[in-house]
Amino acid sequence: MTWALCFNCGEVKFGAICPCPKCEVPSTGDMNLDIAFSDHNMTKESLEDFGKVVAAIHRESDDPELCFWAFIRYVSINHSSILGVNLQPDIAQRCDALLSQMSLPIVTLSSSQTKLAKDKSKASGESPWWKFWSRTSNDAGD
Ligand SMILES: [Zn+2]
Repeated sequence: MTWALCFNCGEVKFGAICPCPKCEVPSTGDMNLDIAFSDHNMTKESLEDFGKVVAAIHRESDDPELCFWAFIRYVSINHSSILGVNLQPDIAQRCDALLSQMSLPIVTLSSSQTKLAKDKSKASGESPWWKFWSRTSNDAGD
């Protein structure tokens, strides 16, 4: 089973290299990119979160190429573990201008490979370090 992200409309589609059933746009042709945004690499929930980002970008611009690069730019800045990219300065500038004028949905990235490990640490009751800060400020309020 392979769930993959459509970079054109944000639909999470079945099959990484198939055309999107919703907008009929074929995959990027870049196998690494298609696999990076498939459930080989992250959970379906994360793909759906990224889909919301794609859809949000497309609501801001009618230029499919700019939308695509803006999404890639967004990922390389906010989720550099997935991919990093050096865009040409003029394209990067246009992407930044587009991204800066919109409020992007929050993406909760969970890798499909580390999902089990994360669930295990949650079960053991370990708190992230920042929990200490929130607890301290709550106590001060009381
Ligand atoms: Zn699509």
